[in-house]
Amino acid sequence: DPRINGIKTKIRVVPDFPKKGIMFQDITTVLLDPKAFKDTIDLFVERYRDKNISVVAGIEARGFLFGPPIALAIGAKFVPLRKPKKLPGETIFEEYELEYGNDRLEMHVGAVEAADRALVVDDLIATGGTLCAAINLLERVGAEVVECACVIELPELKGRQRLKGKPLCMLVEYR
Ligand code: 5GP
Repeated sequence: DPRINGIKTKIRVVPDFPKKGIMFQDITTVLLDPKAFKDTIDLFVERYRDKNISVVAGIEARGFLFGPPIALAIGAKFVPLRKPKKLPGETIFEEYELEYGNDRLEMHVGAVEAADRALVVDDLIATGGTLCAAINLLERVGAEVVECACVIELPELKGRQRLKGKPLCMLVEYR
């Protein structure tokens, strides 16, 4: 799709952020370009509009930028998966490993039900640990995870292998 190259050119790569040796993929520069931002949302909407998705689960924080417009366009509810202690209601959580230490994702009890068909959205997949925690949260309440969607994949980190067999749709690879 010719739109993908346009999106790719708007992703800014920032060397040594947040620390030395990391080539950070900055999607805020995609948001600055209304055409690239719209194309990003449209590509996902075209893929998911007829897939009977009832919930889009977005991962804090950049999954909150792409998830809601997709949810609105396909007529699904949006559920935020948040970092610890942000959600006010009763929550369940899943822990995942970071390079140093652990983090967790939390989800409101009752936001997702067993009958739901879920799409998980984030900006980028690296090791896949974050998406794996999101899948586990959704599956624990009985939902079916149909697919994961990311703008960027770092394929060398083999994050796909951690998605419990769920398909991944991504727009741009960075090697
Ligand atoms: P993973 O759990 O797959 O190793 O890491 C993915 C998570 O880290 C995502 O939530 C993503 O937002 C964040 N992340 C890691 N590296 C980058 C990066 O280079 N750019 C952006 N935008 N996010 C990153």
